[in-house]
Amino acid sequence: MKKYDVIVAGGGVAGVAAALAARRQGKSVLLLEKSMMLGGLATLGLINLFVPMCNGRGKRIIYGMVSEFIELATKYGWKVVPKEWGNGEPEKPTNVRYSVRYSPYIFALALTEQVVKEGIDLYFDTIASSPVMDGNYCKGIIVENKSGRQFFEGRVIIDTTGDANILFRAGVPTIQGKNYFTYIAKAIDIEHCKKAIESNRIEKAIYNVSGGNANLYGKNHPEGMEYYTGTTAESVSNFIIRNQLELLRKIKNDAKESREIVTLPGMAQFRTTRCIKGDYILEETDFYKHFDDSVCAINDFERPDYLLEVPYRTMIRKGFDNLITAGRSVSGKGYAWDCLRVIPPAILTGQAAGLAAVQAIDTKKAIYEINITELQEKLKKQGVMIHFDDSLIPENAKPAEKNLCI
Ligand SMILES: Cc1cc2nc3c(=O)[nH]c(=O)nc-3n(C[C@H](O)[C@H](O)[C@H](O)COP(=O)(O)OP(=O)(O)OC[C@H]3O[C@@H](n4cnc5c(N)ncnc54)[C@H](O)[C@@H]3O)c2cc1C
Repeated sequence: MKKYDVIVAGGGVAGVAAALAARRQGKSVLLLEKSMMLGGLATLGLINLFVPMCNGRGKRIIYGMVSEFIELATKYGWKVVPKEWGNGEPEKPTNVRYSVRYSPYIFALALTEQVVKEGIDLYFDTIASSPVMDGNYCKGIIVENKSGRQFFEGRVIIDTTGDANILFRAGVPTIQGKNYFTYIAKAIDIEHCKKAIESNRIEKAIYNVSGGNANLYGKNHPEGMEYYTGTTAESVSNFIIRNQLELLRKIKNDAKESREIVTLPGMAQFRTTRCIKGDYILEETDFYKHFDDSVCAINDFERPDYLLEVPYRTMIRKGFDNLITAGRSVSGKGYAWDCLRVIPPAILTGQAAGLAAVQAIDTKKAIYEINITELQEKLKKQGVMIHFDDSLIPENAKPAEKNLCI
């Protein structure tokens, strides 16, 4: 169809960040999204919370493009931010953590506005189907959409499908995750509407209803039920069917004139489907470690103090010259993968992937050969913390205290 500098497969938060980062360096960018809205799990999947972006002592860790995405998520809609963090920075040290809740669909609209405004070619309802490989080099992507089957040439391909679909099909080794029984939908009822009116806060009219309600550690996963891979047609379909039937079972006997489900999740709420086996795999033993090739520092969203750096090598695999991933398919294991995949880090790895793609094109190098110091300098200029300060490490820090995931 056309040749692009950068093709981004998957328009979740990581994909949008990657597309914007590359476009802002003057590159032509094609963004492919199989659904009808941008944002992925953070919009269509109804996960509308930027998890804590600080160390739990009042020190913010995550900036960069995340600040801009928070602004996009909240500029046309409501937001819920702890009062200590009203301006994005606390006035004095606090153990209240910095998180931001927002309207998912308003965020999706703002993302479309931004992507279009910046001149990114955006294809909705388009599945990035297969990479076309010529040895180590990916010539482009075959897509499927209303026009049929099309081929787009690209100089660098960024896989932000959330499942490493493209890199997997290109032959990059991957790690299979497992997923528990989870399904969160949004509902309103008369009681919640009254609360919204009393407080003049529209978000109070809406509440969560669930099918499966397992948490990220597997608590509440039904005994005897298999785990879901999320990487086969059967696994995805079984997950959705069972969850929808479970939600229906729970609400069947409600007073049906006084409540309504306003939306079901538009994509399967899988946390960890498949990530690449990159040149480095981030693990729980890596908390508090510095990496020379770090592209961002991130924090544990549950436990205060715990910090990680994300090596560039988690996003690439040597031997695949122009393929890179970002978001929840970046290479990680166990709880380290959980810390990597959530919304704020997904945006930061997206930002890094977009800039790395541009650097590879400009210097005519393979994506795994680019100069990391240069990449870090660009990220720093864009507000990203590359290395955390050692003064933030507690004296009794224990990196691999326990395996948090079952
Ligand atoms: C139940 C649950 C609760 C969570 N809670 C939180 C939370 O409270 N806070 C938080 O920060 N994070 C939370 N997360 C994690 C977070 O939502 C995601 O990890 C993050 O949004 C991932 O972003 P992403 O861009 O990497 O991937 P995704 O959001 O998965 O985006 C991938 C995008 O690619 C598209 N796509 C996929 N395949 C193709 C293809 N072949 N062609 C074209 N398009 C394709 C998809 O439609 C989607 O838009 C939660 C996740 C789950 C499942």
